[in-house]
Amino acid sequence: MSTLLLFSTVTSQAAAPDSWSQPFPGHRVIGNLYAVGTYDLSVYLITSDAGHILINTGLEDSTPLIRANVESLGFRLEDVKILLSMQAHWDHTAALAEIKDLTGAEMWATLDDDRVLEDGGFSDPHFGGKQSFKPITVDKRIHAGEVIELGDIRLTVHEHGGHTEGSSSYSMTVREQDRDYRVVIANMGTINSGKRLVVDPTYPGVAEDFAETFRLQKAMAVDIWVAAHGSQYKLHEKYQPGDPYRPGTFVDPDGFLQEVQRLEQLYLEQVAVETAQAAP
Ligand SMILES: [Zn+2]
Repeated sequence: MSTLLLFSTVTSQAAAPDSWSQPFPGHRVIGNLYAVGTYDLSVYLITSDAGHILINTGLEDSTPLIRANVESLGFRLEDVKILLSMQAHWDHTAALAEIKDLTGAEMWATLDDDRVLEDGGFSDPHFGGKQSFKPITVDKRIHAGEVIELGDIRLTVHEHGGHTEGSSSYSMTVREQDRDYRVVIANMGTINSGKRLVVDPTYPGVAEDFAETFRLQKAMAVDIWVAAHGSQYKLHEKYQPGDPYRPGTFVDPDGFLQEVQRLEQLYLEQVAVETAQAAP
């Protein structure tokens, strides 16, 4: 089964693949970064003595799975202070409103994804026209280059638009066993099926957003990367439940570059096809 194919076409919880709701053990990625999502929908917990950051949720019924993973690692969901998302699509946001209520955490979001979060997906230029998840009040707008500080967490915001208007990635340096690891939580430039880039574009500037995302991501210095879907960063090849923690498990700079280049190639092919079809 191709999860990558499925997540580009599925638009409702009823049609969600099993891998999105299938439990998967919470595990340490590196240092204070933990994966607490399901088998394929990534949720990240970044911990500090002053509280935690939670990135993404999963489907609307994912909260118990996320909570169980957080607690299995020795943390409390109630200590989450800041909620972030990587892309305002329902399969990554649907439990945000519930977790915000449970924790009292603030929701921080980038331009345009903040709008979509606040209207529950209604103004999504591709999947919108209806609500696809419970709306979340956004407490603070964040911008590219901004460094989110919480306790000793220093997390840099990257605007990597295209997949959604406000798609975002986050990066930080983690020191483990006398070595610095440059870590990126990357929103990859995948193109949902039916989306238009240059001819009657899904939103004005979408092609330019993707091009800029690929340019920025290729220039990133990355030791460790993870992404919004486990399948995107080959989670299940790199890690098996019960594997002991090793800082090197997710080191994969070449894999990141290759995946960005592969997605850029798909983008260039779609631009060429649309342009050729529009030619007289
Ligand atoms: Zn998406």
